[in-house]
Amino acid sequence: MKPIAEAYKDFPILTRTHRGKRIAYLDSGATTQIPVPVMKALETHMANHNGNPHRGAHVLAMEASEAYEGTRDVVQRFINARKREEIIFTRNTTESLNLIAHSYALKHIKAGDKIVITVAEHHANLVTWQFVCRVTGATLEYMYLDETGHIKDGEMDKIDASTKIVSFAHVSNVLGMEFPVKELVERAHAVGAIAILDGAQSAPHQAIDVQALDCDFFVFSGHKMCASQGIGVVYGKYHLLEDMDPFLFGGDMIEYVKEQTTTFNEVPYKFEAGTPNAHGAVTLKAAIEYLEQFGMDAIHEYEQELVRYVLPKLAAMPHIHLLGSANPEEKHGVIAFTVDDVHPHDVATIMDSHGVCLRSGHHCAQPLGAYYGVPASNRISMYIYTKKEDLDQFLEALKTVRPTMGLSE
Ligand code: PLP
Repeated sequence: MKPIAEAYKDFPILTRTHRGKRIAYLDSGATTQIPVPVMKALETHMANHNGNPHRGAHVLAMEASEAYEGTRDVVQRFINARKREEIIFTRNTTESLNLIAHSYALKHIKAGDKIVITVAEHHANLVTWQFVCRVTGATLEYMYLDETGHIKDGEMDKIDASTKIVSFAHVSNVLGMEFPVKELVERAHAVGAIAILDGAQSAPHQAIDVQALDCDFFVFSGHKMCASQGIGVVYGKYHLLEDMDPFLFGGDMIEYVKEQTTTFNEVPYKFEAGTPNAHGAVTLKAAIEYLEQFGMDAIHEYEQELVRYVLPKLAAMPHIHLLGSANPEEKHGVIAFTVDDVHPHDVATIMDSHGVCLRSGHHCAQPLGAYYGVPASNRISMYIYTKKEDLDQFLEALKTVRPTMGLSE
């Protein structure tokens, strides 16, 4: 196995400076940086194998098809899906959830049904269900959390006989915490609902086994795991996918087209209309193979070590308030916090002047912010190339924030 402590050397962007300071990139939850092997894979593909997948009998079209379909095999193995056909390529997690909403939910959900999510969901896993409810007459119901980010007692009972979909983040992009997946999936299935797992913040950081999770759908984005932007994944159980309508219509998703009617291609191709993002797929394959050199369990442990290092130091600082649990064992490499009397955008601007890249704002989870009465916050998020040195730079810079604003340290 390749040692994770050496990973940062593969990321050229981390050698650049900003305002005379080394960059401490702590916004990997938004998007991750790209290692050289992934860049090289794309360059090799573009220089030698570029063509339009599934179209044409010439060598370049066929090699492009092989590259694109090869990624499907790699993703199947990566998340342990039963069949390669259970992997559908999209642009990102957002599009993946929209695909499920349009192709599954609009077909199966009706007035009187319930969709249950947590109040911590990313807008991608929330606005989408508002839309489905508006169109179908179904109700969107929320499971609420306690102060430390855990689902409150009794809230899971909202998953009842009228529930048809339970959808939730595997790991929250604000709280950095994992919801009780096993229990939520079991409760969904016990009432005949399907369980959708938003894996945007989990698939890049830990081993995923969709068969063990037993979720009906699992979605994630390539750009949060060292691939390029514009490639995402839907995993769906085959029998569900088979029964679903197409999402987008056009080339490649058809079997036979007549003037007035069309029969559709088989799963997964009926969900992949138009020229696919083969370039993104090439980077996703290379990214997965790159991550697997370290091992997903080792990546998870490495990030936990970083959390154990930084979280107690951050929590002990005056005027800092954490969102969610302060227990490092419950936190993945995502930590959101506020600074007393300083707006998160000001915090981010001051941190930027120290070379520290972190996130500020509502993190696309406005209902969670409203629920906790914290409409905006800052967030650091880590990955394999994060070093303790980055976290020290962050902690040192954070000490300057209040004094810079004319407040006590
Ligand atoms: N879900 C979660 C939990 C996320 O963190 C994100 C992105 O930050 C998304 C969904 C949306 O991902 P994308 O913008 O790649 O579609």
